[in-house]
Amino acid sequence: MEIKLKHITKAFPGDPKKNIPDTIAVKDVSVIIKDGELLGLLGPSGCGKSTTLYMVSGLKTPTEGEIWFGNENVTHLSPEKRGIGLVFQNYALYPHMSVYNNVKYPLSNLKIITTKKENSILYNNKIIELLKNHADEIVEIILSSSYKNRISKDESVRKLVYRFHIVTSMATKLFNMGIHLKNKDEVILFNIKKLEQSNQKILNRLNKLGFKLNDNFEWLDKEGQTIKIKRKLTKDEIDDLVQDVARLVQIDEYLARRPNELSGGQQQRVAIARALVKKPKVLLLDEPLSNLDARLRIQTREEIKRIQKATGITTIFVTHDQEEAMSICDEIVVMKDGVAIQVGKPQEVYNNPINLFVAKFLGTPVVNVFKGNINDNGLFIGEEKILNSKKINVFKDTYVAIRPEGFKLNNTYGVLTLDVKEIITMGKDKTLICEHPLKIEGSIKVIIDSDIDVKIGPNKFDLKENKFYVFDKDRESRLEI
Ligand code: ATP
Repeated sequence: MEIKLKHITKAFPGDPKKNIPDTIAVKDVSVIIKDGELLGLLGPSGCGKSTTLYMVSGLKTPTEGEIWFGNENVTHLSPEKRGIGLVFQNYALYPHMSVYNNVKYPLSNLKIITTKKENSILYNNKIIELLKNHADEIVEIILSSSYKNRISKDESVRKLVYRFHIVTSMATKLFNMGIHLKNKDEVILFNIKKLEQSNQKILNRLNKLGFKLNDNFEWLDKEGQTIKIKRKLTKDEIDDLVQDVARLVQIDEYLARRPNELSGGQQQRVAIARALVKKPKVLLLDEPLSNLDARLRIQTREEIKRIQKATGITTIFVTHDQEEAMSICDEIVVMKDGVAIQVGKPQEVYNNPINLFVAKFLGTPVVNVFKGNINDNGLFIGEEKILNSKKINVFKDTYVAIRPEGFKLNNTYGVLTLDVKEIITMGKDKTLICEHPLKIEGSIKVIIDSDIDVKIGPNKFDLKENKFYVFDKDRESRLEI
């Protein structure tokens, strides 16, 4: 499902009596999220990311502009009618419910319009197929499931569900047949016969009522038409959906536990499963990793990427962590003060920031910024000319931003001299902590290969193309030079 944000603005009214001005949380944002893509809304606190997400979800309505899901204008549609799954940073799970019941919760009152289908025959046929083709494996699974040296029914059922992707009630039925006890072949034959008889009974009853079944086991009326009905999901259908999504997010082992018996990352996966169980067309994630520790954050973000790719669900992911957005998003929107400053693929935005804010916001360590200037024959930092340029030939004060990986040691001809104060070697990289009189904010960090020999003190460097950018000092916008 493609999502289009067309010139959306959100203003929160202030209170003139208390001298509180209006807040324009989001200003004229236009973005297209392609079908099946993962888009990151990225920016510092208060830049309008969450407000944008809430407008997509329907929890907030734009003051101006429109939101489209595919060919439908959903701007004024309630959240329930939008077909979205929402995940917040504080997983918001029900602590008194099992993981299973938490995931199942959104399905409890769900009504579906569907064709009337003879699911009992499908169900019986599936058991017959398992008995005919997998009896040995079923016995093996049951015999291997023990608790305190006795065969455990719960464990057997769980393993059968896991192995054959069947609903819990079917696994329970298989266990109860007792094919693991004795006279296996007899028990199997007896049960297959019973199931086939049951199918025949159902067919006879239908025929008496004047209905037939098509190849998909849907009821056909006298005119041969399928019959549409509105109904709640059955227990087995709910179980099927819960088991399916639990397998997808890999929490199927923990369904019987309570949320507080899980790690933060597992709890967040439960929240994601709950958001996905209704098979939404759009998944919205608001800072879903911010309650996790560093290691779990990385693990869980990879999980989110995997789940998103496996389901192909169009997803919007809000974060203030640029590394997180850069690592998993297909596209990012960098926001500041309610404005979408730049939209693009993470690497493209990183390599081509349109202003100083974007350059500084993306990248770890942060980009190194120097005061510079352009005059008639080039770009200078202090007395050193770092680039010949004929494009701009008026004097201009600038900022020059150089990525840490944008330096190349060249003590003979290098264009920029840095005073190396400290050298930190870590694996294949070396970080040089440097000083320069015209740098702004913090110390300069240069990253080079660890096998390059550098001495403490002044060193000259060349600059790599595409790894440094020049900005107008007043407007902080990018200059092509
Ligand atoms: P954070 O990362 O801190 O969650 P954010 O980028 O998600 O920030 P928003 O929550 O969208 O930012 O807020 C954007 C701006 O709108 C902020 O200045 C915020 O104070 C303001 N704002 C948000 N909700 C309201 C509201 N209900 N009433 C008034 N102002 C609001």
